[in-house]
Amino acid sequence: MKHRGMTFNFGHYENLLQSLDAICRSLADYYGAEIRCREACASCCIPGISLFPVEAWYIKHSLGPLQASGRSSGSCIFLDHGLCSVYRARPVLCRTQGFPLLYRDETGAGGAAEISACEINFTGVKEFPIGHIIEMDKVNLSLAAVNIRFLHDIGRYEELKNSRFAMEEIPALE
Ligand code: SF4
Ligand code: SF4
Repeated sequence: MKHRGMTFNFGHYENLLQSLDAICRSLADYYGAEIRCREACASCCIPGISLFPVEAWYIKHSLGPLQASGRSSGSCIFLDHGLCSVYRARPVLCRTQGFPLLYRDETGAGGAAEISACEINFTGVKEFPIGHIIEMDKVNLSLAAVNIRFLHDIGRYEELKNSRFAMEEIPALE
């Protein structure tokens, strides 16, 4: 993909998204009616979600002209009348919302872990089988690797290797 003479290669990121979407589809099948994510349910579309550069540039450049609605100050800028206006390019965190997410103890001490799950979906479920949880540390490791590769590809690794972007910054990205 070319933009103002700059070539963006999102192939590795799109592969990651496809794998993640396949996992999400299988979890949706497994949990069935307990997954209540529907159009216009947008309580998880809050402001303040931060993105790796590859995620931010993908939203910016894989769709047509962006329309940041900003209609509700308490919501993500891409939420438009309850719908995600960048749905096809939404970032990793948005794709995993609604499913049980496992976060392991980052210190590695004792193997402590935390599972988070949307309370609208899992009102009565107390335990989640280990094979039916998204291990977010693994997902984020893969995403970090893809991001490093993307930054090298665009020649901005040193400049942006520690950067994260807010949704609000995406419309102004070049
Ligand atoms: S990008 Fe879309 S799905 Fe993600 S928080 Fe914003 S409106 Fe919601
Ligand atoms: S994760 Fe929860 S708040 Fe978000 S769309 Fe699904 S049910 Fe609604």
